[in-house]
Amino acid sequence: MIYSGNIYKMRTTGSNPVSYFLTVGDIEISMNDLIGKQINIKYKNQINCINCNSITNKSFHQGYCYSCFVSLPQADEGVLHPEKDMSHLGISRDMEWAKKHSLIDHYVYLAITGNIKVGVTRYTQIPYRWIDQGAISAIKLAKTPYRNLAGQIEVELSKYISDKTSWTKMLQTQTSDIDLVSLKKQISVQIPDEYKKYITFDNTITNIHYPYNYNIQKFRSLNLDTNNTIEGKLSGIKAQYLIFDSGDVINIRKHNGYFIDLEIFE
Ligand SMILES: [Zn+2]
Repeated sequence: MIYSGNIYKMRTTGSNPVSYFLTVGDIEISMNDLIGKQINIKYKNQINCINCNSITNKSFHQGYCYSCFVSLPQADEGVLHPEKDMSHLGISRDMEWAKKHSLIDHYVYLAITGNIKVGVTRYTQIPYRWIDQGAISAIKLAKTPYRNLAGQIEVELSKYISDKTSWTKMLQTQTSDIDLVSLKKQISVQIPDEYKKYITFDNTITNIHYPYNYNIQKFRSLNLDTNNTIEGKLSGIKAQYLIFDSGDVINIRKHNGYFIDLEIFE
């Protein structure tokens, strides 16, 4: 069976384990069903912008053509760096978009990926953001009424806790002894007084299980720009990574808009 089309970041549902769905053109494929099967991903040397569909030689900001990259609000720097979002001051590439995406409740959270990380997400993206990062557990730390504020808190806390994820550690990490509730207590002390009122009392721990049995410890990350074909027996999925039993992995998220053939061998 061969499916052809542009791919997009996998949609997820559930958390025990997470179910993954990959869009290939008009079809959505249940990726959990492919675990244990031989698959072949062949890049057709075409990238279509995930916004305007035009062909682009290079993908900007995970899937946009250059023109969309420099004009769309969802590709502005406040998306990658919440503290640079200025929509609360009325400054945005598109205020209507900002009202729906930036000027809404945001969470600062702590997550165990491979290391402990601090991050920011819109309230609508919980738990999807955590799943996309491969977190095995996470806790909410602060709730703010708009994006920039959450970013300011994250900047303060990133002096003590990483705001990055190591992808190899993330793929290796199955369990952790870290007590997120007591860590939240400790780190909350470091939040400047002006932001302390945003600390949330919600200490719910979200645990996330992935369709993957962690039997591989050495990984090689491949991308379609330099490896036209990526194939093997699919061993599991974590974050947005397809993990093959050879240890080869591909981060689907980096390939938004790539046109591929996906062949599945029964
Ligand atoms: Zn475009």
